[in-house]
Amino acid sequence: MAHSIPKMQWAQVVEKKGGPPIYKQIPVPTPGPDEVLVKVKYTGVCHTDLHAMKGDWPLPLKLPLVGGHEGAGIVVAKGDLAQGIEIGDHAGIKWLNSSCLTCEFCKTADEPLCTEAQLSGYTVDGTFQQYVIGKAAHVTKLPDNVALDAIAPILCAGITVYKGLKESGARPGQTVAIVGAGGGLGSLAQQYAKAMGLRVIAIDGGDEKRAMCEKLGSEVYVDFTKSKDLVADVKAATPEGLGAHAVLLLAVSEKPFQQAVAYARSRGSIVAIGLPANAFLKAPVFETVVKMINIKGSYVGNRQDGVEAVDFFARGLINAPFKTAPLEDLPKIFELMDFTEHGKIAGRYVLEIPE
Ligand code: NAD
Ligand code: ZN
Repeated sequence: MAHSIPKMQWAQVVEKKGGPPIYKQIPVPTPGPDEVLVKVKYTGVCHTDLHAMKGDWPLPLKLPLVGGHEGAGIVVAKGDLAQGIEIGDHAGIKWLNSSCLTCEFCKTADEPLCTEAQLSGYTVDGTFQQYVIGKAAHVTKLPDNVALDAIAPILCAGITVYKGLKESGARPGQTVAIVGAGGGLGSLAQQYAKAMGLRVIAIDGGDEKRAMCEKLGSEVYVDFTKSKDLVADVKAATPEGLGAHAVLLLAVSEKPFQQAVAYARSRGSIVAIGLPANAFLKAPVFETVVKMINIKGSYVGNRQDGVEAVDFFARGLINAPFKTAPLEDLPKIFELMDFTEHGKIAGRYVLEIPE
């Protein structure tokens, strides 16, 4: 049965840099020939959405903007050339809304690096609305039997940390330090790491995040707000005190990006994923050289990373806590997420989109 698509819909719209988002009615968009229209049921709120609203990054932003890029919903319309996904299918909208599919990066499965890439909730409107457009080639088909609220955060946070763990090169049995473990990406990173046979040291602040990290299977929690010597505490938690085989930097502050070399193991890798505003990676050349440390960045994932991250979830291996709130509450969630010392959200917020 064809779904009747209204002309107008509810959305959270950022009208000027700095926000706040305004809850209002806007027109429902029409998909182009190679696009689908997804009726969003749930969407995660990623810290990236807050960076976007604040204008934190040296990357031009669409304005006015409907943010959001962790959407899970149902395909309700498609263009004539849209292939691989049908009306009625459950579908996920990712950060990468589209890419050219013809450049060297796209051809070699590095489509996040495509210079023509369009980004959901940043350069094109995203999932903080009832109906969102995605390129058919880039939407992620979701299994029918998975809950759309729980899977929403997989579409950005899950894919990103899964890819980051693969990029780290850490092997089963090795130890990964997850910095920012109590946040949205961090909570999922712990579950993916565990499912991949890695041992986890969680680093974040506060007792609520401690309790969550211990539940998610971290062997040790280091509280950066309380530790007198964070480097020593992390090293002490690693085999033979030699440091972590891999460090996943997910925090939204600069300090850990300067500190990680000190507790990375020789031959270890440091993967930068968090994107704090105006921040720099800094490492002593001597230590980096004589410890043969590998420092790299990791940016979301390609379409197959999406398929694999969803598959881990669908097989029941990924269980991270999330709280739900109505789409209308987005400004309140941004306030909780923002922080002076550290954010107040343990895990992820998922917004329920009105029918
Ligand atoms: P979040 O707010 O849910 O979590 C961030 C966590 O970092 C919080 O728990 C906070 O307490 C913690 N933190 C802050 N300072 C810390 C410190 N000094 N040491 C340890 N922990 C600290 O944010 P999120 O949604 O998980 O996103 C995290 C970051 O990743 C954001 O900057 C986001 O833009 C970025 N991101 C990057 C990619 C990518 O592809 N590279 C994809 C998605 C998100
Ligand atoms: Zn995100």
